[in-house]
Amino acid sequence: MVNLLLHICCAGCLCAPLDELRNEGLKVHGYFYNPNIHPLLEFRKRLKAVHIFQESDPIKIDYCEEYGLREYLSEVDYEGDNRCEDCYRLRLRKTAHHAKEKKFDAFCSTLLFSKQQDHEKIREMGEQISEQVGIPFEYRDYRHLCECSQSMAKKKMLYRQSYCGCIFSEFERYKDTTRNLYEGWKLKGNLADSNT
Ligand code: SF4
Ligand code: SF4
Repeated sequence: MVNLLLHICCAGCLCAPLDELRNEGLKVHGYFYNPNIHPLLEFRKRLKAVHIFQESDPIKIDYCEEYGLREYLSEVDYEGDNRCEDCYRLRLRKTAHHAKEKKFDAFCSTLLFSKQQDHEKIREMGEQISEQVGIPFEYRDYRHLCECSQSMAKKKMLYRQSYCGCIFSEFERYKDTTRNLYEGWKLKGNLADSNT
């Protein structure tokens, strides 16, 4: 039986592929390591969602619970064209090292199960890192289960985010929002209240 370490970025892409991996006979152990999730309260929400998922599933998970904004900013060229590649590399590399250290047979990532991510890049990078670290990369394409997985997460009432993770993706998601958040709000009066 393959003892697999599965990197998990949030509970959203996990639900349905986890069943598939088990049906294939793999023993799955999760790994939560995501310094790319910002800001802090968003990070905590996604972390909490994975803990809640665990309440209804026997999966064991190793957690890096430290907020990783500084690590992300130092490892990722966030102003360059390859921001997401750097971000994938950071997380896959750490997962591969953790898998090797803890004597798992192979590693994989829920990033591969999302329709929103650059699937081919993740595959290519997983294979490269596998060679560098010396541990097999268990490639899977479960993108067809994406909607099913999200609806399972919805049924379980797990938190589902509206942007990828980093502060830059949050900006890209909301920068064209035109709704005036302060409509009907008496700015002066509220400012005055907040000073009391
Ligand atoms: S790819 Fe996105 S939705 Fe899927 S598990 Fe990662 S953060 Fe969640
Ligand atoms: S958009 Fe997503 S994958 Fe790209 S750098 Fe931000 S968090 Fe990482």
